Amino acid sequence: MEQVDTLIIGAGASGLFCAFHLANFGKSVLVLDHANKAGKKILMSGGGRCNFINRQVQTHHFVSQNPHFVKSALSRYGSEDFIALVERHRIGYHEREHGQLFCDDSAKDIVKMLLDECQAAKATIALNTAIEQIIPSDSGFVIRTKHKKDNRSASIAAKSLVIATGGLSIPTLGATGFGYQVATQFGHTIIPTSAGLVPFTFTDKLGEMIKSLSGLSIDVIAYNNRASFQLPMLFTHRGLSGPAMLQLSNHWQLGEIITINLLPTLDAGEYLLKQKTKQPKQLLRTALAGILPKKLIAALENHLWQQHKDTELANLKNDTLRQLGNTLNAWHIKPSGTEGYRVAEVTKGGVDTRQVSGKTMESRLQPNLYFIGEVLDVTGWLGGYNFAWSWASGYVCAESIAMR
Ligand code: FAD
Repeated sequence: MEQVDTLIIGAGASGLFCAFHLANFGKSVLVLDHANKAGKKILMSGGGRCNFINRQVQTHHFVSQNPHFVKSALSRYGSEDFIALVERHRIGYHEREHGQLFCDDSAKDIVKMLLDECQAAKATIALNTAIEQIIPSDSGFVIRTKHKKDNRSASIAAKSLVIATGGLSIPTLGATGFGYQVATQFGHTIIPTSAGLVPFTFTDKLGEMIKSLSGLSIDVIAYNNRASFQLPMLFTHRGLSGPAMLQLSNHWQLGEIITINLLPTLDAGEYLLKQKTKQPKQLLRTALAGILPKKLIAALENHLWQQHKDTELANLKNDTLRQLGNTLNAWHIKPSGTEGYRVAEVTKGGVDTRQVSGKTMESRLQPNLYFIGEVLDVTGWLGGYNFAWSWASGYVCAESIAMR
């Protein structure tokens, strides 16, 4: 039977990162993946340019039932460490708004960097390999596999087992719930999962109205009682997307209302009252023409103030104008759902971090079993934070296995 010190399941961001560090620390490492290519999600990330990290990575950029869990790993492997690695590999990169760092050329550069590091450190990667069974043994684990091309079965003995199989988003890129299955096998609790960093969908008249504005993008403040984001919002033929909505989706649960301030830099009520004094014969749509896109005004008019459509401002009560202003500054809408795992960038929920050590990523229930990356109940904001978590958790896991 083949024997390795550490077997890692998942050749994605966290698995590859953990693999070469561990091999550099002198351990024999084998990475298994059922897909035909390593790092598929990385290749798709950041619109093909991979937002590989953020300059500022802090605890509050992550959603988890156990918010302090990420602290130790993030303090031991930070943005500057990853940037130094990218620079060592001479990968061109640039900074966009909010400290997001992207490759100049292609996300392929990041995958190549990880694979080159694995090769140099002699960490082995075996693709097209299905995991059939994991059996705990006196000296660690025995992992039974089957090669997907020739159906050859094999057993591998490993002292440590690292689960780096990610979340459920984008099944066509190889995502499965395998990591949750392994966690459950060893008695772990799974925090219920749902799609994160994902557009909202709407039904009925609201859905129709949003669809009619498809392609329009405006700056908004989108918020609920847990989070608030001042960012662009995009109307699409399926619902609401853009950074503001993706960010808010991480903090949203099915059935909840979200609120959108369509005029974040203006008290809309005050503005309408001033317009009434200045130009009392104006209609609402004329008064709003300078501050909102015409297409949006027409849609809101049909949806929210049909009855005042042809009324001059002079004939609208001040209270009515204040109320309309409030609606523009705090438009309460209820999504019917999200576009789901098919398009979500991440999976919220996952392996409960209260049963995993934040210092080592080792299971508190099963010695020598580790969980890293997105399989854990750690969800980063949009902006390079999810990779930041993959790198940091992969690194501290490698360090702790090496120091045992
Ligand atoms: P993954 O990278 O998903 O790797 C998991 C690996 O496990 C895969 O290779 C998979 O094939 C393998 N696997 C799964 N099941 C099995 C099984 N049963 N047997 C064997 N192998 C298995 N984050 C950012 O920070 N910046 C971005 O720009 C960004 N853009 C994104 C764009 C898209 C379209 C998507 C989907 C995600 C994006 N993310 C981004 C999120 C980021 O890609 C993930 O958070 C990150 O890849 C998670 O790393 P991971 O190692 O935990 O899992």
